[in-house]
Amino acid sequence: IKEQLAHAQKMEAVGQLTGGLAHDFNNLLQVVMTNLELVLDRGGRDDDMALRAADALRAAERGAELTGQMLAFARRQTLSPRRTDLGALIEALVGLLRRTLGENIAIDLRLASPLRDVMIDRGQLENALLNLALNARDAMPHGGCLRIAADNVDFDDERADRHAEARHGRFVAITIADTGVGMSDAVRMRAFEPFFTTKDIGKGSGLGLSMVYGFVKQSGGHIELDSVPGGGTTLTLYLPEAVPPAAADAGARPAPEPPAD
Ligand code: ADP
Repeated sequence: IKEQLAHAQKMEAVGQLTGGLAHDFNNLLQVVMTNLELVLDRGGRDDDMALRAADALRAAERGAELTGQMLAFARRQTLSPRRTDLGALIEALVGLLRRTLGENIAIDLRLASPLRDVMIDRGQLENALLNLALNARDAMPHGGCLRIAADNVDFDDERADRHAEARHGRFVAITIADTGVGMSDAVRMRAFEPFFTTKDIGKGSGLGLSMVYGFVKQSGGHIELDSVPGGGTTLTLYLPEAVPPAAADAGARPAPEPPAD
């Protein structure tokens, strides 16, 4: 528990630093992008300068993507949570993954039914799950199995005590497990740090897991990571159940149930 607390404090400090930097950088990049777009609008199509401006714009856009991920890690991003049927969201994503991951990676999908609804920013959740799936693919260069599962989980006192970051209550657990290379202790300890990567330059930014971490924390959930060298990696995202509309209204105003849409 002590170790987990130290880790949480470190992440908090890194988050503050990253968030401040990312925010300022993002503003600067917006200025660069707006001006480059203007240059492109005015410039001729096959003008050499226009091509250069287009290259610069693409680089600036890639930079803005990275600062976006850093802001997500630092929990400075505005989320738009909506009541979400996770089963439908995951099934749609798995369709995309089947087309993306290649034939030597089998996908094993296991969804509990019925699955609780969660309040979540759908675009960000799709991003997060896609990130985890692509990490899994990178960990299985010779193929393997990607297991995606979702189940309802209740945290009681005993279970919450075992996990420093866990909260009591009703959650949905989304598991992404691969049969890949796994992580050494040294990698596992640092995996969520922004910019920590073991991948070649240009292949990894080291922002994927830190972004997922920040997003899940900001959404009121928490993450567990299990990984053994040679034994694959399992990440579990716990997302809090959406409060039923009737309970959310109770005490606030005795309004009638809104019509279902
Ligand atoms: P990136 O993928 O850009 O390197 P991440 O933050 O997503 O950044 O991951 C950080 C590091 O954690 C990776 O470079 C890799 O060493 C390790 N890692 C992440 N996911 C997995 C996985 N599924 N299996 C093995 N190692 C992983």
